[in-house]
Amino acid sequence: MSYDESNIFARIIRGEIPCDKVYEDDHVLAFRDINPQTPTHVLVVPKGAYVSFADFSQKARPEEIAAFVRAAGKIASEAGLDEPGYRILANHGPDAHQEVPHFHLHLFGGKDLGRMIKPADK
Ligand code: 5GP
Repeated sequence: MSYDESNIFARIIRGEIPCDKVYEDDHVLAFRDINPQTPTHVLVVPKGAYVSFADFSQKARPEEIAAFVRAAGKIASEAGLDEPGYRILANHGPDAHQEVPHFHLHLFGGKDLGRMIKPADK
């Protein structure tokens, strides 16, 4: 899949659409999900044009990957989630119901998140 420059996160990164920003550096932007699933629900987004996790893992430069991972950890820590815990998740492709075709990581926290996948869903 080629990268769609008009996807909603590309527009947020370009500043065309507002967001509730929680973190920014040269390689990463993080902002609150517009439809939060948990008390803390932050989207951590690389600024580079990557469609999905597969695209990011194959093509991102080492400094982009390092910045992304460090930013995610820092955002979770600064949200006070290290002790109670949190979940990070990335949806890739149709089976995972990825909606926005710009790679992003969901950071969930602020309550007991339950099991990762319900036994009945296997
Ligand atoms: P996906 O299913 O692609 O992993 O998740 C996309 C996420 O982006 C959803 O949780 C959705 O609520 C969020 N989202 C979609 N449009 C916007 C937007 O314009 N602003 C923000 N902050 N989040 C959005």
